[in-house]
Amino acid sequence: MTSPPSGFRFDLTTAPAGPVAPRTGRITTPRGSFETPVFMPVGTLATVKTLLPAEVAATGARIILVNAYHLYLRPGHRLIEQLGGVHRFMRWDGPILSDSGGFQVFSLAGLRKVTEDGVRFRSHIDGSEHHYTPELAMEVQQALGVDIAMPLDHVLPGEASFEAARDAVDRTLRWYRRCRAAAPGLTTFAILQGGTHPELRRYHAREAIQLDPPGFSIGGLSVGEPKAVMWATLDSTNAELPIEKPRYLMGVGSPEDLIEGIARGIDMFDCVLPTRLGRNGALLTDDGRHQPSAAPPTASATSRPTPACDCLACSQFSLAYLHHLFRNDELLGHRLATHHNLRYLARLTERARAGHPRGALRDRSRERLPRALPRRPTKQRGSAAAAKIVKKTPPGPERTPCKQRRGVPS
Ligand SMILES: [Zn+2]
Repeated sequence: MTSPPSGFRFDLTTAPAGPVAPRTGRITTPRGSFETPVFMPVGTLATVKTLLPAEVAATGARIILVNAYHLYLRPGHRLIEQLGGVHRFMRWDGPILSDSGGFQVFSLAGLRKVTEDGVRFRSHIDGSEHHYTPELAMEVQQALGVDIAMPLDHVLPGEASFEAARDAVDRTLRWYRRCRAAAPGLTTFAILQGGTHPELRRYHAREAIQLDPPGFSIGGLSVGEPKAVMWATLDSTNAELPIEKPRYLMGVGSPEDLIEGIARGIDMFDCVLPTRLGRNGALLTDDGRHQPSAAPPTASATSRPTPACDCLACSQFSLAYLHHLFRNDELLGHRLATHHNLRYLARLTERARAGHPRGALRDRSRERLPRALPRRPTKQRGSAAAAKIVKKTPPGPERTPCKQRRGVPS
């Protein structure tokens, strides 16, 4: 359990076998609690695209993500503050996590200049010049009134040299201290970088631990590196992290990556993939992505879009109807597919939390996660973890990298 400034806490509900192992938990914020592992729908511009807040909640989502950088540029954090904060602005009563926008700022190739003080950049909207500092990133997130904030971090391309990556890690550590000092009352995770250099990843983790953050965000992965490298890098980070604090793998959220991440001890995920795929007419399923518009609805005209799903689209509409909507580019098709995809990922985490014995996906190699999840709390003798376990999680009903967040909204 973390002891935070603002009513934030994390409790393990199932003990992991070690630092790189699946676990379940519960995160509590002043605006409510949610079970982990959790997938957070992305509402970059204070809207989960195409859905009403109640519809987002109906998918099982309990926490969503907004982007401080985008809301700073438009409509402006002070306006949102005057309107009562981002929860009231977008009518979402549950917890909200905000990304500081470091990833977006550093993705503005040719539009930015980094100094120790911060980063100067030109807006992708109107070309206006801005000086984004750690303090300003926190000012924005405080004005939004989010429940979990991210510090400004120095993001480098995945192929950056060791020396450049080391320099960015040290700057990110210095900036994190400044962020905490600027907003001591805000729950601000530490973002861990280090490219694909295992020794840098370990170094950043060890140094960040000294600053006692309420949680850890792992950035700079799923940016084009081979999957094997991505998971090995994540493992080298997770091996250093204390098990009693939450871990958020930023911008990762395909079903396959969710399962691999959960198996390695990740608690929180976000990705624009489910909403973006929904607007492109693709449905996530245990058998891969289905495109209702790809084949004419003949013999299966009365069948459901995906039979095993309990979402609004699959329980009330036929595959033929979705096919029809997408063939005609009807907006309801985008909404239904978005709803389905968010529900699918929520169910995936629900099944993982429940230790679903049949596995989440058909591919046998992907079934190892639910089987690997401990079914009941297991005491770890001599481990601080044992004291953190409060109770077993009840079974639930239930960045294609996601890094499209570069520069422009999802
Ligand atoms: Zn569905």
